Amino acid sequence: MPLAIDRDQKIVFAHRTNFVGKPTGPSTVSWDYKGDEHVIVRPDDGQPAKPWQVKCKECRKNLEFTVHSVAATRRRQARWRAIAWTGLAVLIASVAGCVVIGGAALAVLIPAAIVGAATGYYVGGIAADEMGITGNGAGMPIVAKHSVTLVESRPAGMEELVCAKCGHEEEFTWGSHLRKGVVERRYQEAKARLDAHTCRAK
Ligand SMILES: [Zn+2]
Ligand SMILES: [Zn+2]
Repeated sequence: MPLAIDRDQKIVFAHRTNFVGKPTGPSTVSWDYKGDEHVIVRPDDGQPAKPWQVKCKECRKNLEFTVHSVAATRRRQARWRAIAWTGLAVLIASVAGCVVIGGAALAVLIPAAIVGAATGYYVGGIAADEMGITGNGAGMPIVAKHSVTLVESRPAGMEELVCAKCGHEEEFTWGSHLRKGVVERRYQEAKARLDAHTCRAK
């Protein structure tokens, strides 16, 4: 699922604090980022992308990003998806070709399958991360010195789960990385926990 895009876009701008990634599992490293929330107002649909400047609190560096309108961001997401699907189609066609044609054609078909798979995988990742804010490596699958992370807005119809009497709150997670059914179930579970909480205001 592509990221949910807002006109008043909430983001977290952060500075990477470690130079070398820390190992956090058999084949994963993690990077510590320190940052804070900003709200960027996107240009109107049909208007050109506009710059957004920010001064990093950690290293005092001034950085400039390019902010695209909501419509332009959706077009960018769609374009990356189209490229990813093309890569996948090349992969499938070349694998089929290897089986059907074989022989001398393998010299071409095998590299084509690898390029197709790599394109589908790599560009598919970019498609999922496209947020219409570019520059300084934002949204690209690299470990940049500064990061921009989009904060997705609360899904429609799922209000904050807070007890009006005692302020008790139940959290649930949402985001385009989760399937809609999963978010809905987590919301319902959180709502059930709120209904069952021991109210301190009695
Ligand atoms: Zn910095
Ligand atoms: Zn309560």
